[in-house]
Amino acid sequence: MSIPIRKLQALFGARLQENVRMANYTTSRVGGPALGLIALNTLDEMRETTAALWSLDIPFKLIGSGSNILVSDKGYPGIILLNHCHNIRINTHQDPPGVYAESGANLSNLARQSALRGLSGLEWAGSVPGSVGGAVYGNAGAFGSDISKSLVSIQALLRGEGEKTLSAEDLQFSYRSSILKRERRKVLILSATMKAAQSTREAAWKTLMEISDKRQATQPTGASTGSTFKNPPGDHAGRLIEAAGLKGLQVGHAQFSTLHANFIVNDGNSSAQEYLTLIRTAQKTVKEKFGVQLQLEIELIGEFDDDDA
Ligand SMILES: Cc1cc2nc3c(=O)[nH]c(=O)nc-3n(C[C@H](O)[C@H](O)[C@H](O)COP(=O)(O)OP(=O)(O)OC[C@H]3O[C@@H](n4cnc5c(N)ncnc54)[C@H](O)[C@@H]3O)c2cc1C
Repeated sequence: MSIPIRKLQALFGARLQENVRMANYTTSRVGGPALGLIALNTLDEMRETTAALWSLDIPFKLIGSGSNILVSDKGYPGIILLNHCHNIRINTHQDPPGVYAESGANLSNLARQSALRGLSGLEWAGSVPGSVGGAVYGNAGAFGSDISKSLVSIQALLRGEGEKTLSAEDLQFSYRSSILKRERRKVLILSATMKAAQSTREAAWKTLMEISDKRQATQPTGASTGSTFKNPPGDHAGRLIEAAGLKGLQVGHAQFSTLHANFIVNDGNSSAQEYLTLIRTAQKTVKEKFGVQLQLEIELIGEFDDDDA
């Protein structure tokens, strides 16, 4: 569909940035232009902006840190909404203690603030670069835990239904997924309410630092989207990629990390298509050698030339 850009300019004024390179808004540092980008600084802005876009039937995508998406070099033919709603409230006086976060809050920041208030449960997220909304959408987790273990409910906007509270049960979490991700539902997470366990500042901080140190020793820093594939039942995607002889494989400027083969790293000049070539190569080779179909953990956005695998 063609986007009524003049109408959007009239509606959003200077808030609408046109023709924005997504490489600047993703942790992989790849991705072509979005037709438009609007930053959301408050939950009311999120409510009003999405209502307007829905009423005009304009395609849009809400993103947090862009750390779990691979945007095509051709870009995104719609409006990207960039979530900057990041307020956090921690209540240590209720039982169990409660943690409230707007969906654009940074996970790592949330985990650190919780630990510093003597709360346990979110330490695994101490250095995960995503947002709370992205974490709920994909049930982010690490080191044996995930957000579904803490989540009580979300406040959500549903197309055609308005604002609703959805419980953790409603979200039907599974490994690195939720019903929102599995069914690509048109649901926007405004905020999340979580529960934590009472601990001490020292104990929670120690756990958080131990996990962060482990991560630093085993995962590459720099531009990437984190783990590319989900771990298949009883195995690790990184182990399979390495056993298939692909660890360190480079296509153009993208490479299966020599430190952790499930990470694809960008030396600064990679294209999304180079990422995709590595992805398809791993899927094909691992299937041929071990009979295992690797499933993407990251989400592909936009149009890719998918025939060069
Ligand atoms: C170095 C590195 C390490 C990582 N380590 C981990 C890890 O240990 N464990 C792990 O699980 N993940 C990890 N990740 C992946 C990523 O950080 C998480 O999945 C994160 O929760 C995604 O959040 P995001 O804001 O970046 O989502 P985005 O990439 O911005 O979006 C991902 C999807 O979520 C949707 N979404 C985002 N916000 C909302 C919202 N408010 N409402 C509805 N839908 C929304 C988007 O539309 C999109 O479909 C890592 C990534 C990197 C780069």
